[in-house]
Amino acid sequence: MKTLDDLLSHGVAGRRVLVRSDLNVPLKDGAAGKEVGDDGRIRASLPVLVKLLDAGAQVIVAAHLGRPKGAPEPRYSLSPVADRLAQLLGRSVAFALDTVGESARTLSGELADGQLLLLENVRFNPGETSKDDAERAEFARALATLTGGEEDGGAFVEDAFGAVHRKHASVYDVARLLPHYCGDLVRDELTVLTQLTGDPKRPYVVVLGGSKVSDKLAVIESLLPRVDRLLVGGGMCFTFLAAQGHGVGGSLLEQDQVDNCARFLADAGAKIVLPTDVVVAEDIAEDAQTQIVAADAIPDGAKGLDIGPDSTRAFAAALADAQTVFWNGPMGVFELSPFAAGTRGVAQAVADSPGLSVVGGGDSAAAVRALGLAESAFGHISTGGGASLEYLEGKELPGVAVLEEV
Ligand code: ADP
Ligand code: MG
Repeated sequence: MKTLDDLLSHGVAGRRVLVRSDLNVPLKDGAAGKEVGDDGRIRASLPVLVKLLDAGAQVIVAAHLGRPKGAPEPRYSLSPVADRLAQLLGRSVAFALDTVGESARTLSGELADGQLLLLENVRFNPGETSKDDAERAEFARALATLTGGEEDGGAFVEDAFGAVHRKHASVYDVARLLPHYCGDLVRDELTVLTQLTGDPKRPYVVVLGGSKVSDKLAVIESLLPRVDRLLVGGGMCFTFLAAQGHGVGGSLLEQDQVDNCARFLADAGAKIVLPTDVVVAEDIAEDAQTQIVAADAIPDGAKGLDIGPDSTRAFAAALADAQTVFWNGPMGVFELSPFAAGTRGVAQAVADSPGLSVVGGGDSAAAVRALGLAESAFGHISTGGGASLEYLEGKELPGVAVLEEV
């Protein structure tokens, strides 16, 4: 696999380089319209862009935001991201009003050396996510053409780790049309994840939370035989509690996953640590009346929205001697302060654990920052939730596999 440094060693001044970045950040309402909420992914994308700009490349960035359905939707515009990117880079950023249309073609043609153009959300084009190979290839060809193509020095850098599990035009197909290079972010993410699948130092502890068991079933399946302990919190713990025969009131419950959870408990029950107490409330609200109840005595109608203090202590104790930790998924509805303590306590314990600690998942990474924890206390905060989970499941990542092709 060729890397960005290989590309730079050939010289990039005067060449147009297409970079696929992951700029899929949460937006919030600000004084003058939408603003970037958490800018972690933009920051993580900077090093590759700066290297290319400093080397005199004409940089064209392709990225997506949210899940528009193949047509422009103003609320998913990358325009607020262009503003934040310009601030963080300390340079001007040109912004195309379309993906491969008039605006993108004109602005890419006008780029000077060391200048950057961000294209509008690639998912505004139906070719980006199409299941039809020909439709994707057509959009990819239009993207590649913005660089002038291989004859004209065009090149492609894959740096969107959060999207490499997608066989999308700007992630996969375009790499087949241009000389392609692995960006530093993708390289670093893969280096860390390899340490979790190869021969991890023990004890190896995985903490899973978040909303859905069904999202994480495959990763539980693949990790359970390899880990020493699996701590389960978040909305998904209730399906496990139900599998133990407990009532879970109005908590999140995936009835069709109860049998799978029962099987995990039967096969590896000694490794699985579930909460013993939970924070319940009737409403998911900032001013909710909360109560702490035993995990096997959740009242009818009450919703379990965080792990309780005893569970947080037990989870922290199970992390205290861990030499390798992978954490994905908040322990509760951390976005609301009455339900944030479990996530804060566990995040702190992950940060304090003595070995390699890896945080995967968009919401988990956002939780680390929103709760004011020092990012530097973690060994690695992955920018890609789905991509890191699929890697740990042992699946091939199309956006990485294509980089191996010559
Ligand atoms: P990640 O993005 O880190 O992979 P997920 O997307 O799986 O995490 O889950 C994050 C969401 O799970 C958060 O928005 C959080 O509010 C929600 N969540 C956590 N615990 C609960 C719970 N007990 N009930 C409902 N939602 C929960
Ligand atoms: Mg999420």
